[in-house]
Amino acid sequence: MTTSTNTIPNRQLQSPKLLRNGKTHIESINPYQNALQQLDLAAKHLELDPGIHEILKHHERELTVHFPVKMDDGSTKVFTGYRVQHNVARGPSKGGVRYSANTDIDEVRALAMWMTWKCAIVNIPFGGAKGGVVCDVKSLSKGELERLTRRYTSSISIVIGPDTDIPAPDMGTNAQVMAWMMDTYSMTQGRTVPAVVTGKPVAVGGSEGRNDATGRGIVFVTREALKEFGKRLTDVTVAVQGFGNVGGVAASIFHEMGAKVVAVSDAVGGIYNPEGLDIPKLQECTNNDGTLTTHKGGKPITSRELLELDVDVLVPAATENQITDENADRIKAGIIIEGANGPTTPSADRILQEKGIFLVPDVLANAGGVLVSYFEWVQDLQFFFWQEEEVNSKMEALLVHAYREVRQMAKREEVDMRLAAYLIGVKRVAEASLMRGIYP
Ligand code: NAD
Repeated sequence: MTTSTNTIPNRQLQSPKLLRNGKTHIESINPYQNALQQLDLAAKHLELDPGIHEILKHHERELTVHFPVKMDDGSTKVFTGYRVQHNVARGPSKGGVRYSANTDIDEVRALAMWMTWKCAIVNIPFGGAKGGVVCDVKSLSKGELERLTRRYTSSISIVIGPDTDIPAPDMGTNAQVMAWMMDTYSMTQGRTVPAVVTGKPVAVGGSEGRNDATGRGIVFVTREALKEFGKRLTDVTVAVQGFGNVGGVAASIFHEMGAKVVAVSDAVGGIYNPEGLDIPKLQECTNNDGTLTTHKGGKPITSRELLELDVDVLVPAATENQITDENADRIKAGIIIEGANGPTTPSADRILQEKGIFLVPDVLANAGGVLVSYFEWVQDLQFFFWQEEEVNSKMEALLVHAYREVRQMAKREEVDMRLAAYLIGVKRVAEASLMRGIYP
């Protein structure tokens, strides 16, 4: 096990860009550096004690594992995985597990830090963590995926547990992966421990409503944001980047609730129809191994083009660094609701703000998922399960409350919604750290 050091890594820099004034500029797209910049901004505004600021910059525990998996062809492959716990001042750490060929320790660090703020902003008793395995999920058979998941779980079992650190799904993982994780951990304990992960199938202790929770929360938050402009969901056009658990579900619920979803995209490409897309048909098509781009209901577009469409609401729900200082200038949407974690870089944030675009940040906008994960954990600990309506309405109440708190803070401090959310989240974590004091 390694502990985090003071070094801020320097991977993934965009190639230098020629600015209009003739100077070159390099923007960091290292998500960890971006997460640190966001924290620094909040710390400065809060006049945070330098010692506490230093604590919050660092991750409490980082585990890197290299583990073998038997592949279907008889060969053995060694995979690399991570579990990073950022801060547990407010409770056990919580955060998803990402399976992606592009993941690395810095991405996992950023995602873990964002989880700490997110849990504090919606005021649930969790700290932040995240996990990842470097792998191309699409190239693995179901058997390989199961063996990889079980061995990864076994390798990180020394740092997870129902009252220590509770994983959940993220990009590339789903309810089935969570069932395997729960089963593997339970085998090491000699008893069934449903509360060790959330986002499980309902049949093994999952919560009703968890699968749709992040996407549903995105729609609730959008509805609240629109109220500020005197609009309703039925008045607006929406573009959604990413068509997975977050983007796909959000697009479906937007459609159900009467918003006109005019564009969606996934990693292959997207589709645009200014008259509105038939989202249930698109879901059917992608479920049947079709792609969005080959669907007849609109014109094919790239995922980058989607971001620049003239729509009322843009929901980046795919991955980090989609809106950077390279394209922020060309964004036409009036409202951005961040479904993904870290889709906007700090430089892009400044450009969007200058353009007067109203942005609801990831740490608030996509918190419906962790809220229902919290409910799932509570239900598992009590072995007492709720109906879906109860889950959805409790999530709506907490998310809308958090939205209003952040909005009030933004107005009072005259700052954008990201900084306002951080002022609330970082302050809560700092207060908990101060009250607990420094051991010994
Ligand atoms: P997922 O694996 O279910 O889906 C990801 C989608 O994004 C897929 O449709 C994929 O094709 C697409 N995609 C990937 N790269 C893309 C690109 N460059 N351009 C366009 N589309 C691209 O993952 P998910 O669970 O939907 O997660 C998406 C984002 O939401 C991630 O940032 C994740 O951290 C965040 N998030 C997820 C949850 C959750 O509950 N699953 C909760 C909060 C935040």
